[in-house]
Amino acid sequence: MAEALKKKPAKNHPPGSGAIRERIGVIGGSGLYHLKGLSGLNPTVVETPWGQPSDPFMTGMIGDVPVAFLSRHGAGHRYLPGEINYRANIAGFVALGVRRILSVSAVGSLKEAIVPGDMVVVDQFIDWTKGRPSTFYGQGAVGHTGFAHPICPDLAKTLVEACQGVKARFHEKGTYLCMEGPAFSTQAESFLYRQFKADVIGMTNVTEARLAREAGLCYATLALSTDFDCWHPDHDAVTVTDVLAVMEKNVSTANRILERALQTVRTPAKCTCQEAPATALVTHRDSIPPETQKRLAFIGILNEEAGAGS
Ligand SMILES: [Zn+2]
Repeated sequence: MAEALKKKPAKNHPPGSGAIRERIGVIGGSGLYHLKGLSGLNPTVVETPWGQPSDPFMTGMIGDVPVAFLSRHGAGHRYLPGEINYRANIAGFVALGVRRILSVSAVGSLKEAIVPGDMVVVDQFIDWTKGRPSTFYGQGAVGHTGFAHPICPDLAKTLVEACQGVKARFHEKGTYLCMEGPAFSTQAESFLYRQFKADVIGMTNVTEARLAREAGLCYATLALSTDFDCWHPDHDAVTVTDVLAVMEKNVSTANRILERALQTVRTPAKCTCQEAPATALVTHRDSIPPETQKRLAFIGILNEEAGAGS
C-alpha cells in the first residue's frame, strides 16, 4: 500500500543544515525503472497542483543518503515523452524536500566518438520539442528564468567524478538535442542535428531541466548512449530492441555511477541554481490570481504568505 502525501510540501531547507543529509532525487528513464541498492523502500504517492507524477516515488536510503527515485515513464513504461506530467514530477520532488536531482536517460549518439555504452555528462540542450507544457508560469504569472547554463555545474562535476571513480567510458560535456518524438528522427533530421553540433539526442531531459531551474532545483543528466540515431552509414536505423538491449548491458554501470554520485554529492551545493526563482518573476504579486499564487508557492517560486493570498 503506497503512503499518500497530500499535505503541504516540506519546507525547503538550506543544503547542509544540520547533521541529516538532504534527500537527493533520481529520475530513471528507459531501461532504468528501479534504483539498485535502495534500502527501506517506501512507495510514496504525491499529489501536486499539476496532478499526479508519473508514479509513486520510491523513497529509501543508499548508504546513509536519503533518496527519492521516480520512474519517468511510470511502472510498465506507460507515458510517451510528450505525455509525461513533467510539472507534477518536479513539483513532487519539491514536496519531498528534494533540492537536487540526478537524471538518467538513454540517448542516441550524434557523434562518431560517442559509441553505444558511453556515458555523457550533458552540459547543454537544444529544445526541439513541440508544445508540451514546460513552465510553471502562466495563468496570470509571467516569469522568465535564466537558462543559459541549464545544468547544475556542481552536480555535473559530481557525475564526472563518479564516472572517473568507477572507470566508466564517458564524455564530460555534451549538447543534448531534445526532440518531441515519439517516432525516432528521419535521416534528414539526424543530419541537421549534427550540423547543430549536438552530441546526443533524446526526448525528455530539457523539459525536466527547465522546470527544475524554474523551481530553483539543481539538475544534472547522465546520458547513456544506446545507438547512433540514423545518420551513421553503418547504423542507419534505430530500434527500441537495440536501445533496450544496450541499456540492459550498461545499466549496472549507470547504477554504479549513480550510487557513487549520491555518496559524494557536495553539501552545501556550490552553485546558484536555487537563486533562479528570485529573479524570474515579472508580474507584481498583487496582480497574480490567488490560485496561481498557491501553485507557485507549492514549488517555492512564491513564498507561502503570497500563496495564502496576502
Ligand atoms: Zn545547482
